[in-house]
Amino acid sequence: MASVDYAAATDLWQSIISSVAPSVSETTFSSWIETLKPEKLEDRILTLLAPSNFHREFVEEHFVQGLETVAQEVTGDQIRVRVRVQSMEHVPRQRHLDLSKPLPDAPSNGHVSVRTTVQAETNLNPRYRFENFVEGDCNSFARAACLAISDLSRPTLWNPLLIYGGTGLGKTHLLQAIGNRVVSLRKGDAFRAMYVSSERFTQEFIQAVRTNQAADFAERYRNVDLLLVDDIQFFATKERTQIEFFHAFNALQQSGRRIVMTSDRPVHELAGFDERLISRFDSGLVTNVNPPTYETRLAILQDRAIQEKFPLPVEVADLISTHITSNIRELEGAFAALVAHCQFGRVPATLELAQRVVQEKTGRRAGRPPVELIQETVAEYFRVTVDSLRGKSRKKEIAHARMVAMYLMTEMTDHSLKTIGNFFGGRDHSTVIHARDTIGEQKSALRADVTTALTDLERRLSLGPSMRISM
Ligand code: ADP
Ligand code: MG
Repeated sequence: MASVDYAAATDLWQSIISSVAPSVSETTFSSWIETLKPEKLEDRILTLLAPSNFHREFVEEHFVQGLETVAQEVTGDQIRVRVRVQSMEHVPRQRHLDLSKPLPDAPSNGHVSVRTTVQAETNLNPRYRFENFVEGDCNSFARAACLAISDLSRPTLWNPLLIYGGTGLGKTHLLQAIGNRVVSLRKGDAFRAMYVSSERFTQEFIQAVRTNQAADFAERYRNVDLLLVDDIQFFATKERTQIEFFHAFNALQQSGRRIVMTSDRPVHELAGFDERLISRFDSGLVTNVNPPTYETRLAILQDRAIQEKFPLPVEVADLISTHITSNIRELEGAFAALVAHCQFGRVPATLELAQRVVQEKTGRRAGRPPVELIQETVAEYFRVTVDSLRGKSRKKEIAHARMVAMYLMTEMTDHSLKTIGNFFGGRDHSTVIHARDTIGEQKSALRADVTTALTDLERRLSLGPSMRISM
């Protein structure tokens, strides 16, 4: 008789990943292994769910055999491992919440590794620290505010502190870093810090009400010295939870304790919130994190490479930081994919491989980079602003950068000369012709700075011919 066992699949998977974790890099583990979900164990076949087809193919190619070996070691039985893509109806519903254990999703960004165990008492993951948070223009104010509020021995005017910003820009990292710093600075047990996502707060509250433990729940949250609440936008429309949070919030604030929150949008865009709560959020300091600039992206990549002890050639770091522009989580994802390709394919991190990874991540086809990308890349290269390229300045270095950008647009896009002129503050098509010819001549004359700039810029802007990762 065929037996399907869902609980056994989870247990087996737990045992497998515990023995796999020490033998792969943290990046590989958190990107490829930890993201798989056990579905069922049926006729000695363990089925795992992968988040995407790419993920499934990669896991099949590189890990399945190893996982089967480990499964055999763990069970003493011949177990086969199958991977399939998770469809929405397979997202498991949270049925039983064991409040004595931290939820597996805290902090909620899929990066919790078994080797950086989340602390049950505080829900803090020691992986997130100020020391490994790369500072840039995009986050320096938020970082300074977080550092200030984490020194509990000094008074602060910035309470509550609310950090908002798009996904993958470091909000959870900062929030957790505050908690970890408080814990490391405290002498004895003087301070209690607690991290909670608003989803978890909500789930716990519902559970507490159901089991008549609402008083204990309230007690727990009103007795901390520092409460860190992630992603408060999830409180929208959850009226009862909001009321509970409001009470906890007031109790903490009145007794001078600190609250730091994050949100994926500014306060005035938080719909479905009680006005009283909104005005509380606004009563301290509200600051934001912005998308990283090229320099910050590069610094983050290089920092990750050092942490992972991965030899990352400068031109590869440069290519990835040029093309993965949206957020830091994606940047880390591209880095993780690169490391995995290198480790499992036993190949070096070449530009070509990086191009394929970027291609896979962004879905952007080679050639024909968009106008903004050309302007941004040229501006970054010559250390001028995009606005100055589009503006009227005749300063020598700006005029030169502008001509290079125009030249590249005539070479790399299908836009007419007139359209290209429009991208540069409505300049005439004859200006574009002049730029194209001037730079073209300098290139033919092998003027060193021009040939270097063009080679470098063309490389940054093009993703090369290969479209698919074939591993
Ligand atoms: P958010 O909560 O804003 O969605 P996260 O804090 O989860 O984003 O950040 C996404 C990933 O990027 C995490 O792995 C985090 O460690 C990393 N990260 C974000 N900002 C930085 C930074 N400035 N320096 C280093 N790593 C960062
Ligand atoms: Mg987050």
